[in-house]
Amino acid sequence: MKVSIQGVSKSFGKTVAVDNVTFDIRDGELFFLLGPSGCGKTTVLRLIAGFYAPNAGDVLFDSKSVNNVPPNKRNTGMVFQNYALWPHMTVAENVAYGLDVRGVSCDEKQRRVRDALAIVRMAELADRSPTQLSGGQQQRVALARALVINPGILLLDEPLSNLDAKLRLETREEITRIHSETRQTMLYVTHDQKEALSMADRIGVMNAGRLVQVGTPHEIYRTPNSRFVADFIGEMNFIEGKVERVTESEVMVATAYGLLVAQASSLRSTSDCKLEACATVTCGIRPEALTPTRGDGAINHIHATVQRATYLGEIEHYTLTLPDGQLLRALETNPEVVRQPGEKLTLTVRTEDIILLTR
Ligand code: ATP
Repeated sequence: MKVSIQGVSKSFGKTVAVDNVTFDIRDGELFFLLGPSGCGKTTVLRLIAGFYAPNAGDVLFDSKSVNNVPPNKRNTGMVFQNYALWPHMTVAENVAYGLDVRGVSCDEKQRRVRDALAIVRMAELADRSPTQLSGGQQQRVALARALVINPGILLLDEPLSNLDAKLRLETREEITRIHSETRQTMLYVTHDQKEALSMADRIGVMNAGRLVQVGTPHEIYRTPNSRFVADFIGEMNFIEGKVERVTESEVMVATAYGLLVAQASSLRSTSDCKLEACATVTCGIRPEALTPTRGDGAINHIHATVQRATYLGEIEHYTLTLPDGQLLRALETNPEVVRQPGEKLTLTVRTEDIILLTR
């Protein structure tokens, strides 16, 4: 099922939780809403489930408005962070619950419960009580319970946040596998960028009630359209500068630390802005794009002093100081030496790794 959110807004008193948000979740897609706490992600999810009515705009399932359809008639499945399983029922009874409510025949119910438990690899524990399961297993039962009703869309609200780090990784892989096996349309809400980057077909990034960018994990990471997205997803160094020259293929930026040359295509995501000489821009450079070099050059070389080096064997993380005191983060893979505080380093960055930001 395809879900469309068109110009949707939702306020609680004076708080604008969701502000004129528009996006589509394609049929069979695993779509993520990602953003800091309080940005409105859960409110969007609850608007789709029908727990809230929008103040403006439409929620459409397969191009039909469901604004007036109550939650129990929307055929959505939900998975919450706290599992919400019935402790007095077995695993199988928990999964069957949604089918009992829908009056499904006994034979069909047994078949569907068996299939759903097989999908989440919990068939062997069907007769256990949820109290005898680990957190990860309980969350898999919650997934089976949501999948068994064949929902048009499965809504997952921070489903891994109650699990410890190892289980979180395992369950992440489980959900990805289940999605690729079932092609179930899913909306997954989280503030964990690693979850979103590693699992999503596409990500919608929210900030203060607004949807600020939608794209694949690669697009969001490599071509963020604003300083907010660049900063929220992964780590980013920001260097301010003035455009010196623009050619068809390159943009040359004068900064306090030397000339930086970026590919003109890095502006694609901000095509609403035409860069001209003297315009103020921010160059975004990821730490992994900034590496120590023995060479020197007039462009894309930055001189800095090591403030702290953390050697981890396969990788070395650096915090460096620029001449005016600004901090810079860089890293080196397969490091040959352990750098010392106070050491002078020259760092280099490829033109394709400089992200030009104008807002
Ligand atoms: P988190 O990651 O912390 O769950 P979120 O991005 O999901 O945050 P929402 O829960 O959608 O954010 O909340 C968005 C804003 O709306 C917040 O300022 C929140 O305090 C407010 N809000 C959410 N639900 C209600 C409610 N039922 N009544 C009043 N205010 C609410």
